[in-house]
Amino acid sequence: MAQPADTAPASAPSSFDIAADLAGLSAHERAVLQAPFREITVQVPVKMDNGETKVFKGYRIQHNGARGPTKGGIRYHQHADHDEVLALARLMTWKTALLDIPFGGAKGGITVDPRHMSKGELERMTRVFTSRIALALGPYRDVPAPDVNTNAQTMAWVFDEYSRGRGYSPAVVTGKPVAIGGSLGREEATGRGVVFVMREYARDHQTPIEGARVVIQGFGNVGANLARILHLEDGAKIIAVSDVEGGIRNDSGLDIPALSRHTADRKPVGTFPGGTAISGDDIFRVPCDYLCPCALGDVITAQNAAALDCRVIIEGANAPTTPGADAVLLQRGITVVPDFLANAGGVVVSYFEWTQNLQQHRWELAYIQEQLLKKMVAGWSEVRDYAGAHKVTLRSAAYAIAIGRVVEAERLRGT
Ligand code: NAD
Repeated sequence: MAQPADTAPASAPSSFDIAADLAGLSAHERAVLQAPFREITVQVPVKMDNGETKVFKGYRIQHNGARGPTKGGIRYHQHADHDEVLALARLMTWKTALLDIPFGGAKGGITVDPRHMSKGELERMTRVFTSRIALALGPYRDVPAPDVNTNAQTMAWVFDEYSRGRGYSPAVVTGKPVAIGGSLGREEATGRGVVFVMREYARDHQTPIEGARVVIQGFGNVGANLARILHLEDGAKIIAVSDVEGGIRNDSGLDIPALSRHTADRKPVGTFPGGTAISGDDIFRVPCDYLCPCALGDVITAQNAAALDCRVIIEGANAPTTPGADAVLLQRGITVVPDFLANAGGVVVSYFEWTQNLQQHRWELAYIQEQLLKKMVAGWSEVRDYAGAHKVTLRSAAYAIAIGRVVEAERLRGT
């Protein structure tokens, strides 16, 4: 997460503080909204294929459940530690409140680099982790979903492990494969939601997406779906993308379907023949209209923000921009569409999946996309209007709306 040297000056209030002032929060309400409701740390021993047992550390942090069961992904990453998981859990509280879906916020993670683990090792790790946090999970308690380095298969194991001895419980987790209760449209939902928000931004600012130059960091669930939809449906020129190993650039626009076929074989984007290989850091030096960080947190810092050559940043990843960078970007007039608005499509369709599971009913894809569009457009319009009326950034506006909803629920429930 953010390094001390990169955070905003001590005198600068954070977006949370600005929003808490706008929402008229008392000191005790601020304390309740900052601290987590419940934290679980578990040991995750995993029998590896070579017979050795490795012991990892896992977390599930439930930040706030005033508006409904807590909700948030599970991340497998070597940097996923307590502080990162807590920061991401908080973000989920604001995201579900901003989009006005009946969930609170949580996040889970295991401190592990899963890239060289076999499928069997990943399954055993997921089952041990699930069994050790299961006492705090449940369709009406806490509902996980995929995040970095976890996917529909991981969620299938969570569902199966949780259901042992508890009976069939598909609503305990979302992002499952469609064959076992997952929702149509969930896999691409985060990327599609980012596109829906970009289209609203583009219309409001009369900067068409067709022909626009787009740079995307990260080519996983969020980045690859975003690239595909922008390329095929909106006629955008995706001129550079990167992954953990490096990047690829083509100023005439990358052939995204061909790039997706290339990465389907687990090949890095940098080895794609249809462009020039660049380093991971170079991705932030490519001049573009839309810059979309869709990988990890804290990648846009006060240092590299000063050199960015883009008009707007659309945050597909969670917390990609440090507070220090936010201050620089504000000064430079670069708009930031904040993460917990831009990337909320995933949790919105997770909510649809949970609803379908509870109802034992299947919705059609066209209906899901129509409902997702409505939610994303409503979220964008509220944030844009609030920011305009109060002369604050889109991030502060989004915080103010979300905090207002959570604190109203806390007050009504008598906290
Ligand atoms: P993923 O594991 O599917 O993909 C992550 C991508 O980022 C991969 O291409 C990986 O190679 C790349 N990456 C990792 N480290 C990198 C680095 N240092 N530099 C450049 N690229 C790097 O993960 P995802 O589900 O696409 O999640 C990406 C981001 O979006 C995360 O911040 C996540 O929290 C956020 N997010 C995901 C969802 C979802 O539904 N999956 C929803 C909301 C937000």
